[in-house]
Amino acid sequence: MFDVIVNGQGPAGISASLYTVRGNCSTLVVAKDFGSLYKADKIDNYYGFPETISGKELLENGIKQAKRLGVEFAQDEIVGISYDDAFNVIGKQNTYRARSVILAVGQPGRKLALKGIKEFEGKGISYCVTCDGFFYRNKKVGVLGYTDYAVHEASELLTYTEDITLFTNGKKLEVDEQSEKMLSQFKVTDKPIASVSGSEFVEKIEFTDGTAEEVDGIFVAYGSASAVEFALKLGVLTENNAIVTEKDGSTGIPGLFACGDCTGVFKQISVAVGQGAMAGKAALDYVKKLKK
Ligand SMILES: Cc1cc2nc3c(=O)[nH]c(=O)nc-3n(C[C@H](O)[C@H](O)[C@H](O)COP(=O)(O)OP(=O)(O)OC[C@H]3O[C@@H](n4cnc5c(N)ncnc54)[C@H](O)[C@@H]3O)c2cc1C
Repeated sequence: MFDVIVNGQGPAGISASLYTVRGNCSTLVVAKDFGSLYKADKIDNYYGFPETISGKELLENGIKQAKRLGVEFAQDEIVGISYDDAFNVIGKQNTYRARSVILAVGQPGRKLALKGIKEFEGKGISYCVTCDGFFYRNKKVGVLGYTDYAVHEASELLTYTEDITLFTNGKKLEVDEQSEKMLSQFKVTDKPIASVSGSEFVEKIEFTDGTAEEVDGIFVAYGSASAVEFALKLGVLTENNAIVTEKDGSTGIPGLFACGDCTGVFKQISVAVGQGAMAGKAALDYVKKLKK
């Protein structure tokens, strides 16, 4: 078990890891790729570079620095986080355990803009199988998605029902070998969706070809799991598609912190680095107290 797991290796996550590892906390950074900074060609507004530096170089330098100090790294896409007596960070490849978790997963992607989704949130539209799967025992349930994240959510639903359909909304499935093997347990529909409809609760999915399919509920797991999905799973407050935190990055869930773009702040490297430092320090204090 690690003292701290940092989700994300952008400037917020790496900055946080520097504080936890230097405070003698074993630290693992789990990330699926390099995040938004990798795309930045020239950085001119970050402190300390008389000449311009590329986002790629800045990121690589940060990661080298963290590795030199003893931070461990795992390349994995996180699809869920749960808590028992410690945090379980569930990746596509592995599950990682830690006393404390820092979410530094960058800006959430735009929400799926399908007619009816917003209207039926909490009335048949859910973003969290762990939270709401129980309400759909032996019912007909849809999972909206096309990636490993969607397959992970669908497999978690198997505890409650066998009638599960993966609705890819016209997308080709983008799943690894492990998810591919699980697909035989679900139905898959790849027709593009026009809307979700019902009266008081969700009742059906209507396709652009004029056909429809009845469902009792829909779990949205579209694309890759974002900070907001993790927050919703753990019961953390979100506002305007961002995680709500205190100044030190704490989220209201003991041991869970967030920093950087996923908290909805001014989206700049300097802010992400500063917030990462605050969250790293707060996680360090939390773990030290826990171990006493
Ligand atoms: C093209 C471009 C140019 C920019 N130029 C500038 C600039 O000149 N100056 C400036 O100050 N800012 C600039 N920015 C903004 C800056 O890049 C961001 O504010 C900063 O990178 C935010 O850091 P972060 O650590 O919060 O998130 P990110 O850098 O986005 O890092 C997020 C991390 O989370 C990981 N992650 C996300 N989801 C998952 C998951 N499900 N599982 C595992 N890992 C996951 C990603 O792989 C990544 O490692 C630019 C951004 C872009 C896109």
